[in-house]
Amino acid sequence: MTSALPARRRPPLLPGACLGVLGGGQLGMMFATAARRMGYRVEVFSDVADCPAARHCDRLHVVSLDDPQAVVRAAADVDAVTFEFENVSAAAAEALAARTRVRPSPNVLHTVQERRREKAFLVAHGFPVVPHAVVTDAATLAAAADRVGFPAVIKTAAFGYDGKGQRRVADRAGLEAAWRDLGAGPVVVEAWVEFVAELSVVAARGDDGAFAPFPAVHNRHRDHILDLTTSPAAFPEAVGAEAARITAGVFTALDLVGVACVEFFLLGDGRLLVNEIAPRPHNSGHLTIEACACSQFEQQVRALCGLPLGAPRQLAPAAMANLLGECWGGGEPDWPAALAVPGVSLTLYGKAAPRPGRKMGHLTAVAATTTAAEEAVLAARARACRAAPGT
Ligand code: AMP
Repeated sequence: MTSALPARRRPPLLPGACLGVLGGGQLGMMFATAARRMGYRVEVFSDVADCPAARHCDRLHVVSLDDPQAVVRAAADVDAVTFEFENVSAAAAEALAARTRVRPSPNVLHTVQERRREKAFLVAHGFPVVPHAVVTDAATLAAAADRVGFPAVIKTAAFGYDGKGQRRVADRAGLEAAWRDLGAGPVVVEAWVEFVAELSVVAARGDDGAFAPFPAVHNRHRDHILDLTTSPAAFPEAVGAEAARITAGVFTALDLVGVACVEFFLLGDGRLLVNEIAPRPHNSGHLTIEACACSQFEQQVRALCGLPLGAPRQLAPAAMANLLGECWGGGEPDWPAALAVPGVSLTLYGKAAPRPGRKMGHLTAVAATTTAAEEAVLAARARACRAAPGT
């Protein structure tokens, strides 16, 4: 008998099934840990053998994620596929979707993996965005930057993350160098936003349309890289509620099934602007592991498998601080000193080379208040990294 059931009504994939994840970074590592805890087998597809997820999965396939046929061949045994970063070839995701469950769908990936398409989607659906212009040739760059105003940020249209592929430009004089540095390809020119805070909402949506947002968290960046996340955030409840409302709208408009994150700028007048959408768990959601009834990674497993979503309820105030390569500047960080701070947990991604700016791990603290959690996680990081110059 052939199954005439639409995809949305498929029975859930039960523990024992094999889940594939495209990408082997720390997000894949934490997905694999959550999935295996729940009794699933996990196969990881990565361009490199020495990746964080390698030690946490049942099978690692070293395969070019740009080669759809190779990915499909390697994925012969998986029952469903998700991804842990968005710079996966949409063609590979589509080839997989022709034979297995892929969540979020290749359509979602296609829309959000390129800034021009992402912005066009947000504008078309009436979501609030940063004033911007799309530029494809040097001749129109200056006029576009004049329109959005200075200072401006120039971002490559594709494959940017953690501030990679973007340059802040103070005035017209800086445009040419920025254009060249970014590869002289299509870019999005954005107005520089004097926000009062950055926040994000990680949420899950099920096959049946059920929507489960985690509380909006407060993010602080250093050099365009996330540095510190705190939750509950110190802004009025209405701001978090509005962020969750916009996030629900984005998920519905994308028909997104899975876990994703919407990042926002909060302006002085209380307005929120969508900065970007990440179609996967997010660095700002790591504290859900220690602080919420169900983590963002368990939600990813549940949404992928068509299981009921877990409760995103936060059980304790929490803070997360990233550990970048700089922390290793004085040798191995002092973990015993960091872990002596009450309420602090350590996650290391197992990366061998601690290059500056590289995310090597993170610390999380839970405490009675957000302020206490923030103080604890920063104290722990200061202790861990105290031998490193300038951290
Ligand atoms: P992105 O990779 O676009 O998320 O940018 C990384 C970080 O750079 C953001 O979280 C902000 O801290 C900063 N940033 C990016 N775009 C802007 C902007 N238009 N105005 C001000 N800050 C920005």
